[in-house]
Amino acid sequence: MDLLSARINSLPVSATLAMAAKARELKNSGIDVIGLSLGEPDFNTPEFIKDAAIQAVEDNWNSYSPVDGYADLKEAICNKFKRDNNVIYQPSQIVVSTGAKQSIANVCMVLLNPGDEVLLPAPYWVSYSAIATLAEAKSTVIPSSIETDFKITPEQLEAAITPKTKLVIFNSPNNPSGTIYTEEEYRALGNVLKKYPDIFILSDEIYEHINYGTPHFSIAAIPELYDRTITVNGVAKAFAMTGWRIGYIGAPEWLAKACNKMQGQITSGANCIAQRATIAALDAPVSNIQYMIDEFAKRREIIIGLLKAIPGIQINQPQGAFYVFPDVSYYFGKTLKGKKIENASDFALYLLEEAHVATVTGDAFGNGDCIRISYAASEENIRNAIDRIAKALQ
Ligand code: GLU
Repeated sequence: MDLLSARINSLPVSATLAMAAKARELKNSGIDVIGLSLGEPDFNTPEFIKDAAIQAVEDNWNSYSPVDGYADLKEAICNKFKRDNNVIYQPSQIVVSTGAKQSIANVCMVLLNPGDEVLLPAPYWVSYSAIATLAEAKSTVIPSSIETDFKITPEQLEAAITPKTKLVIFNSPNNPSGTIYTEEEYRALGNVLKKYPDIFILSDEIYEHINYGTPHFSIAAIPELYDRTITVNGVAKAFAMTGWRIGYIGAPEWLAKACNKMQGQITSGANCIAQRATIAALDAPVSNIQYMIDEFAKRREIIIGLLKAIPGIQINQPQGAFYVFPDVSYYFGKTLKGKKIENASDFALYLLEEAHVATVTGDAFGNGDCIRISYAASEENIRNAIDRIAKALQ
């Protein structure tokens, strides 16, 4: 007899976390695995943020915070939205959560009914579809490929809409492809959505600052869509604070209230020390973190150059985030060192077993031709990893 619920049994394991766990396991058993599966900056959290956290401990910030976050943190978030995104939110429209992942889960849980449809322009981040499934909604994937720089068109968006469509999830800069939708492209997609007033838009902007030159644009800045857009962001990626677990939304007030209610029954307010540190992170000029972006930009050039030199690997120029998403379909149907490669999962497994490099299969992101490689790793690890991959594919 299966003691577990149908809910958990139907839920896939997070492919990114599963690969990271597998790499860790191999490492612990003495195998020299290079982990390029997890999207996690290898920098330390900047000193000025750590100082704020230490001060918060000294000042005894140890009690429960309001469920939706400290009032002064919500003020800081409103200021950030105004400064960086040209979007005006009031503190009553903000909810702080334990990471952007929880923010997304809150929104899906309070918006979606069984049978509702969620549009996922592909490639999409692994957990969107799993969270939609938890909310008993159905995901509809809108495909893209390397030929279109992993972007969908307004025509594709419109063709995917049905009377059951409740939510569309955008993510720019994109995990896993690094693609950035320009303002013009977002406005064109927005023009389609203006015609469908019952569809909500979740804009996941967690990689906003990991950007190599294309100006960031927030969909909530389109006035006609503001009332049905939820902007998700957090401090994990830009401030090297993945483990601090702070994410947040700006949303219509009624929706923020519902998320507050949901969170109040599940986790309550996010970690109080991390919230205090987040105020320091958001209040500081963005130039404070430029050294990390510059370093990622350097690594991007290195990894692209090295991958381009491997026959059969097709790669685009990611504009943001810290992933490359090469098309490896050339290898499908081929046998390498006695192992038949049928798909991207086989390919990623082959790289793990033969080259001892951990990557993530593109299937998890809705594109079965590609694999995701994170370059949020040291230059030495990147060079070694791609060298090993090249050898394993010879
Ligand atoms: N968002 C990161 C990634 O895609 C962290 C892992 C996760 O939460 O899935 O690798």
